[in-house]
Amino acid sequence: NVRQSVGDQLPRYVRVNVLKTTVEDTVDYLKRDGFTYKGEAIKLDDLTLKAREFVKDLHLPEVLVFPPKTDFHDHFLYKAGHIILQDKASCLPAFLLKAPPESHVIDACAAPGNKTSHLAALMKNTGKLFAFDLDAKRLATMSTLLLRAGVTCHQLANQDFLKVDPNSKLYSNVEYIILDPSCSGSGMVCLQDRSPADPEKDASRLASLASFQLRCLNHGLRFPRVKRLIYSTCSIHRQENEEVVTACLQQNPNFRLVPLLPEWPERGLPTLAQCLRASVNGTRTHGFFVALLERCNETENLMP
Ligand code: SAM
Repeated sequence: NVRQSVGDQLPRYVRVNVLKTTVEDTVDYLKRDGFTYKGEAIKLDDLTLKAREFVKDLHLPEVLVFPPKTDFHDHFLYKAGHIILQDKASCLPAFLLKAPPESHVIDACAAPGNKTSHLAALMKNTGKLFAFDLDAKRLATMSTLLLRAGVTCHQLANQDFLKVDPNSKLYSNVEYIILDPSCSGSGMVCLQDRSPADPEKDASRLASLASFQLRCLNHGLRFPRVKRLIYSTCSIHRQENEEVVTACLQQNPNFRLVPLLPEWPERGLPTLAQCLRASVNGTRTHGFFVALLERCNETENLMP
């Protein structure tokens, strides 16, 4: 079918796990393994590759790009946790949060943990990474993934993020949060093929997801020292993206949006150009949305 073949045409993105190796060593290993390295991409068209060719991504320094359907599941680098198979768009949240080493970070809806392991790598496995998820099975998968990736700075909790106490001493130094809550998944190309369901049911599902997402966002901003919060979804619906962020900013005037990656081609609709969108045609990824909220400093808050 047509849609599925669109998904099959997306490049294979590989994130190098810098907790275990470096981009340079990975490139060398792959060259010795018979892949042809074509250098760093400078435009989206450079991500169109022939069999066994690969490039460094043009936006994300730790991402390598291969032709669609390149299979790494049995590859040494994957089994040893040196590479993580992760869509490029889903590498944006940890990259953009810029949580420094030694910081305290919350990953609010974390399983199966790809963004957690990316965060840990960028934090050089230092500081504290509190990761929550409601789903015990997904958390079990996450433990395996984090072990393979060599992550040690995390604390996993099978807990409803909405019930985590922002005023607990445990979280008093949390300055960074990733919130990647449950969403419709409408950006996942493989899901776009599902036969259209009952429009009324769809509308009520979207409304209830959006209300959950807004509650999570508001809850995240209640942590007393939080400076930056990344909100992301793999949804293409405004209701789960721009509308949730707009409502949150109205309710939290002490936070503002940070303009993200000026060179990224697809932006939030229509007035939230600070945020990023991603899509098969615009960015050669699954559909995705990212917003970064930052606390305004106190003097700014006093300005009219
Ligand atoms: N961030 C993950 C990653 O990159 O691997 C993917 C997260 S997935 C989009 C959303 C997750 O939120 C699911 O694993 C789901 O179980 C979890 N979830 C849903 N409601 C939650 C809640 N109230 N508190 C914590 N986690 C929740």
